[in-house]
Amino acid sequence: MKAAVWQFGREPAITVEEVALLPLRSRDVVVRVDASNVSISDHLLLAFDPGQLGWPAPQVLGHAAAGTVEGVGDDVRRVKVGDRVIITSTPNCGECYFCLHGRPDQCAAMVFVGPAHAALRDGTLIYPNASVGSFAELAVVPEIQLTSVKTDLPADQLSLLANPVGTGVGAALRTAPIASGRTVAVMGCGPVGLSYIQGARIADAAKIIAIDPLPARRALAMKFGATHTVDPTEEDPVEAVLNLSTDAGGLLQGRGADYVFESAADSLAIQQAWAMTRATGHVTLCSVCLDMTTAQVTFPALPFALAGKTVHSCQYGSLDQRRDLPWLIGLAERGKLDLEAMIDRRYPLSGTLDAMLDASTRSVIGPTLLPFA
Ligand SMILES: [Zn+2]
Repeated sequence: MKAAVWQFGREPAITVEEVALLPLRSRDVVVRVDASNVSISDHLLLAFDPGQLGWPAPQVLGHAAAGTVEGVGDDVRRVKVGDRVIITSTPNCGECYFCLHGRPDQCAAMVFVGPAHAALRDGTLIYPNASVGSFAELAVVPEIQLTSVKTDLPADQLSLLANPVGTGVGAALRTAPIASGRTVAVMGCGPVGLSYIQGARIADAAKIIAIDPLPARRALAMKFGATHTVDPTEEDPVEAVLNLSTDAGGLLQGRGADYVFESAADSLAIQQAWAMTRATGHVTLCSVCLDMTTAQVTFPALPFALAGKTVHSCQYGSLDQRRDLPWLIGLAERGKLDLEAMIDRRYPLSGTLDAMLDASTRSVIGPTLLPFA
């Protein structure tokens, strides 16, 4: 089968190679990748030397996809051949502390890189990023990272649920559930921020303030449900949100937003998100900062201690994927969640690097790889 293989230090860094699958482990599943989401975080990895991170290499990247089960190991129980599945980097092992306490978004079985699943022609072993490796025709995935779904939605739309839409909508409706009639602000209108806006719209937020420096993204934010936009290069986003928020009686100008979501991948934006949240409000953080291994965030100590704000750290929208992916599919099937409009470009496997570059330059919202296109 063909896979887009990342070999650090090579030029180009990603090349499509013919690879051979290794014998299947007992709880692993071979999935035909019908569609894979491509994320800015995939491109971020290219800057890192896997050896310095202690990661095995070469790797097949891609950590969010939808596909069809082609083969199962002897002990697989959750899926069967022919099932449509959503592949997530977040497992749901059902056995660790977090799974047993209703928080599989923090499942202890989560890994940055899975064990070798295939080999190049010369015998070099290759490894699936996040134990997914979906930039390929076939992925070999532990069954605990698969959710079997029954729906007629196309695979490209389902693949969005495995990463940006699941994260953003989950943040709005699960992590810090937005109450009807409230004021919401979103820092960063990439695919995750736009999904949060969709979640805020579904939750019937009264005011949705979208903050992004790119005019095209602010326009998309309005399309997905924002009621106001702010260009942070033109005005201070904290001041703008304070000016747009007031209490119901109009007595308290500059109260701050009830719910703020940060998805701008920037440590300054995290501080601003906290600052624009009203006292006793909720700020939800989910960024993978561009300087993800070194970024630090500081807050003013006194209001941080006294303002009663709740800071939510958000991994994959706090979803329980086996419970919540069918729920998200239902929202899409009933026309409440617009998945189709989130996909603005599709790529063949040979276009993997182009898709990653387009994600990194923010020129495409939902780059989607179709390995069999
Ligand atoms: Zn677990």
